Amino acid sequence: MQVLESLVTELPDLRVVSRDDAEYAVRRKIYNSAVNKKPLAIVIPKSADEVASTIKFARRNGVDISVCAGGHDLFGRALVEDAIVIDIRLLDDVQVDKNAGTAKIGGGVLSLKLSKTLAEHGCITPCPNIASVGYIGYVMTGGYGQMAHKFGLGVDHLLSASIVDANGDIVEADGRVMKGIRGAAGNFGVVVETTIKIYPFARMLAGVIIFESNDYRTSMSNVQTGMEKLAAEDDLPPELDLQPFYSVMPFGKVYGGMFMWAGPDIDRGQKYLDKVLSFHPNVLCTVAPASMMESLERNAPYVPESSYMNSRAVNVKKITPKIYDTFVRACETMPQDPAAMLTWHEVRPCSPSFHPATSLPSVFNTREPHYVIEILANASAEENYEAVSRWGLALQEELLREASEEILDASWLASTPSEEITSLEKFYGAGNARFLKELKKARDPDGVFKHAIPKI
Ligand SMILES: Cc1cc2nc3c(=O)[nH]c(=O)nc-3n(C[C@H](O)[C@H](O)[C@H](O)COP(=O)(O)OP(=O)(O)OC[C@H]3O[C@@H](n4cnc5c(N)ncnc54)[C@H](O)[C@@H]3O)c2cc1C
Repeated sequence: MQVLESLVTELPDLRVVSRDDAEYAVRRKIYNSAVNKKPLAIVIPKSADEVASTIKFARRNGVDISVCAGGHDLFGRALVEDAIVIDIRLLDDVQVDKNAGTAKIGGGVLSLKLSKTLAEHGCITPCPNIASVGYIGYVMTGGYGQMAHKFGLGVDHLLSASIVDANGDIVEADGRVMKGIRGAAGNFGVVVETTIKIYPFARMLAGVIIFESNDYRTSMSNVQTGMEKLAAEDDLPPELDLQPFYSVMPFGKVYGGMFMWAGPDIDRGQKYLDKVLSFHPNVLCTVAPASMMESLERNAPYVPESSYMNSRAVNVKKITPKIYDTFVRACETMPQDPAAMLTWHEVRPCSPSFHPATSLPSVFNTREPHYVIEILANASAEENYEAVSRWGLALQEELLREASEEILDASWLASTPSEEITSLEKFYGAGNARFLKELKKARDPDGVFKHAIPKI
């Protein structure tokens, strides 16, 4: 308590929300409702200077800090018991330089504000597909999305950054720190501003298709075979993505796909949409021209604002018939909760992220074509949490067993619990693991950012 009094006295202009404040419960709310950690206080800086003063204060007083932006970490790791949480969401300025193909953005910007401002300037960039996810948290953990084939993963869009370092100084990240930030999240500082790559077009084709799913094995098989034939005939264009999913709708379990044509040639995209729709009858198709912001708004009804979650991801080189069989079995056993979902992202060989000339120096190690199988073991009601958790963990175990020859060493950082990253070498590769350990020792020897993801 004495620390809290000192914080308020020493930094009178900083907004501090403590456990006694009525606002505390609202400020502490994150996406994963199953996490119930109680920080000492949540501070809401208005500037990089206030972030710097908070870090200096925490160091002087031996208090832990953590950083929270969108609060969408799948394990709620932004909330740390008895720590000072730096809620960085007020640092959300977006300045667009369309001619340079870049935007300067604040460290707390969320997907919605970024995509909205870019749309106003007739531009686009890969973003999280949900409006309330923090952009920096997304990009630092890889940044998956439907534009990855065309523009690369989010991580390859982070050009430069200003950070508040472990001494509480505002500095421009040098090349080594940038490499570490791209894939090892906030281990080297609080990112207060970055410059990112953007692209000069505003509208694409995007939306959701729900296929007729009376027999979801046949629905999936027809769509999958159709996509494989299309790829064989026509090398799928990088603008095209169909992200399949199984989920629970009010009328039962369904197989569907999020469709995206990430390019300005809408007529060409429409031709691919028609082909996809010809693979199997559908009961709903919301695909239409959209800015990135409108696409986020179109996704919103399918994702709850928060849920009790214990999700996992498995990275595989390819999806084999055995894995498809596992998906069908998993759909049969998926608990009847609208928040539960099984989905898989693909990143094809054409992605700029797999080509040294177009990817940036980083410790992000999954630099080969792959799929991320996302087991969204989410429950909209607390009483379903145990059941979805059991379902998710059983599916992860089955995939690791049945598809062992396809599994990549690294899973997706955002969806891997910290305690399951038992070897940085396995996760990042031996060279990157050594690099990260040396950098951490040099730039954060006292562990000011010890609650960042992953633990180094
Ligand atoms: C509903 C939902 C949809 C998602 N969609 C996608 C998607 O489409 N693609 C994808 O790749 N991922 C997606 N994710 C995962 C998400 O991108 C990551 O979990 C990301 O880290 C969340 O960032 P956040 O700011 O929202 O979360 P927070 O919980 O606020 O932050 C997570 C961690 O990131 C670090 N951090 C965040 N901002 C900063 C900063 N400015 N400086 C230093 N450290 C910082 C901190 O260590 C913090 O603990 C999704 C997650 C959810 C729950």
